[in-house]
Amino acid sequence: MILHLNKTVSLAEAQSIANELKAILIEKDEIVLVSPSKLQELPSHLKDKVTKAIAVPNDIQLASKQYLKETRKIKFPNFEIGGDSNSTLMITGPCSVETPLQIEQAAKYCVSQGVKVLRAGCYKPRTSPYSFQGLGLEGLKLLAEMREKYGLHIITEVRDSSHVDEVIAHTDIIQIGAKAMYDHGILKRCGKANKPVLLKRGFGSTLQEFVQAAEFILSGGNDQVILCERGIRTFETNTRFTLDLCGVSFLKEKTNLPIILDPSHAMGYAYGVADLARACVAMGVEGLLIESHPTPKEAWSDAAQQLNFDEFAELMASLKPVAQAVGRKLV
Ligand code: PEP
Ligand code: MN
Repeated sequence: MILHLNKTVSLAEAQSIANELKAILIEKDEIVLVSPSKLQELPSHLKDKVTKAIAVPNDIQLASKQYLKETRKIKFPNFEIGGDSNSTLMITGPCSVETPLQIEQAAKYCVSQGVKVLRAGCYKPRTSPYSFQGLGLEGLKLLAEMREKYGLHIITEVRDSSHVDEVIAHTDIIQIGAKAMYDHGILKRCGKANKPVLLKRGFGSTLQEFVQAAEFILSGGNDQVILCERGIRTFETNTRFTLDLCGVSFLKEKTNLPIILDPSHAMGYAYGVADLARACVAMGVEGLLIESHPTPKEAWSDAAQQLNFDEFAELMASLKPVAQAVGRKLV
């Protein structure tokens, strides 16, 4: 149950109510308590202490439509997503920051396409220890330079909690990768960050587990959480993963969080990315994340799925009428 406390309730009293209900206390403009969802009835002695009490059927609580009917709005200096904005945010860039030249080519390319958010990884969660692991802090600094030089927003991922503070300090949007979705150190730290977090769905996670991972961030006090579907593992092996568009419908129906889709990691091959991206935009989501690279064949990670610049430009042009057809604009 989510309880908004009356302004007259002191922090100490709120803490004692939280203890009584085994609830998490969130201190913002008002104090909000979130108890386990099995509490369905507000104890009568608390009635005059709360302004709002919302009982939800399971532990999708702060992220639920029962709590907030509208998709949460996330504001950036020159655009916003969610709420009534009807924007579909385009995010692109290479899988990894590789060299100063490569990331600058990517940054310039974003500017030429009107893309406001540059994405590239510096801490790569690879399946083999012998693959390129990312440039780490050096990569973060290059991304920060691109922000300064080209006025772009940056999104980059945190792989484990050893460098979470470094990533938070350098990025505009914190990406939590699919393999890190269950890392509670990262989730809890991001709950205290004052920046938007893009949380990717673990490829073996149910929708319930995915949204409950988001609840760790929300209940830490950070209400700027974006869900990212990036494909789940099924019996099919001809594509890298399977983009769960049914799941996207579920998330749109049941949650109040903006949704960004990542067809690149789902497909695993450049040839399918454009078709999937059009399907994603047609679903009316808040954004798309597409991997692109100046020379995909030479990429140091995820070479098979990255679009070259001509392919991305063609895709952008084809997405505009799709967005328009569903009452959205690309930003
Ligand atoms: C990535 O975004 O480059 C990445 C590693 O993705 P995921 O966490 O979805 O595998
Ligand atoms: Mn990648």
